[in-house]
Amino acid sequence: NRQFLLVSRPVGMPADENFELREAAVPELEDGQVLVRTLYLSVDPYMRGRMSDAKSYVEPFALGEVLQGGVVGEIVESKNERWKAGDVVVGLLGWQEYSVSNGRGLLKIDPSVAPITTALHVVGMTGLTAYFGLLDIGKPQEGETVVVSGAAGAVGTVVGQIAKIKGCRVVGIAGDDEKCAYLTEELGFDAAINYKTADLNAALKESCPNGVDVYFDNVGGDITEAVMRRINFQARIPICGQISQYNLEKPDLGPRIVFTQLLKSSALAKGFIVNDYAKQHKEGMQQLAQWVMEGKIKYRENIVDGLENVVEAFLGLFRGDNIGKQLVKVADL
Ligand code: NDP
Repeated sequence: NRQFLLVSRPVGMPADENFELREAAVPELEDGQVLVRTLYLSVDPYMRGRMSDAKSYVEPFALGEVLQGGVVGEIVESKNERWKAGDVVVGLLGWQEYSVSNGRGLLKIDPSVAPITTALHVVGMTGLTAYFGLLDIGKPQEGETVVVSGAAGAVGTVVGQIAKIKGCRVVGIAGDDEKCAYLTEELGFDAAINYKTADLNAALKESCPNGVDVYFDNVGGDITEAVMRRINFQARIPICGQISQYNLEKPDLGPRIVFTQLLKSSALAKGFIVNDYAKQHKEGMQQLAQWVMEGKIKYRENIVDGLENVVEAFLGLFRGDNIGKQLVKVADL
């Protein structure tokens, strides 16, 4: 059973030396447990936070232990009457080939409804993040302008498409031209801005002639400062992620216009985590699955092959390697 451990806490951008791939025996099951064979692993930016020991909303990963993340897997052995061999499940399991679980927190997937990988993104965690953050905090109204940063990633692509369903003008901000073309040509965004090459202030002025009513923030930093200059009276700002800050060794203090702009525009900015909505996840998944089936929400996956490449895939999130959801394929169903 090959598995990845965290062996030291990263300072700045994580590096290979923080991780160790080792071989361990597959444990014997006790009563009530199931053995899950990993098929796909999800790598997610929030895991960077768990690699540090700073206080946050989830426990830090322990040093010397197997890393954890979203997994789609197949139950290959069961000593739990609720589960049987052959069930395909999604849950929070290890960065390893086989995980033992007591079944709590596992969700059964029906492979005939949608590709099993979608349980790790568009109808799973990142889709729900987009859905509740945008609809509950952003409250987009028809005809309003919605700007989303990190637009070509797993959360951002779903945010933009839900905003289109709600009849908004949608502007995405992403890190290269191929991503921008994907947003406007395939996902129906009204405009997309490459923040690495554009004059961001000028581009936002041009693409948001009526200002910004909802800003869904996935990245923070300079991009957020620029969008905040254009927010409208009573704008709503779901603060979903701050990926530009996760690897900084010193906090980036910036020009601090954010609060001044909130004040001047009577706007609302609210942080949230997807688990705040745990009681409504089922309803969100049903709606997302329906939109996917109707072709109203499209998705793309960036799949890296092999457990040994999981660290590289994770680091790729901070380089912007992915269009859509970054996954690692570990085995075939
Ligand atoms: P993505 O699929 O969007 O992947 C990360 C993307 O972030 C990269 O592709 C890259 O795209 C962009 N990025 C990386 N570094 C920077 C930077 N310095 N400045 C601007 N953009 C950068 O990941 P997710 O969709 O899974 O997550 C998006 C955000 O949402 C993250 O901040 C994450 O932490 C947050 N999140 C929050 C949740 C919650 O419950 N609140 C739940 C899930 C995610 P590019 O080429 O455009 O730079």
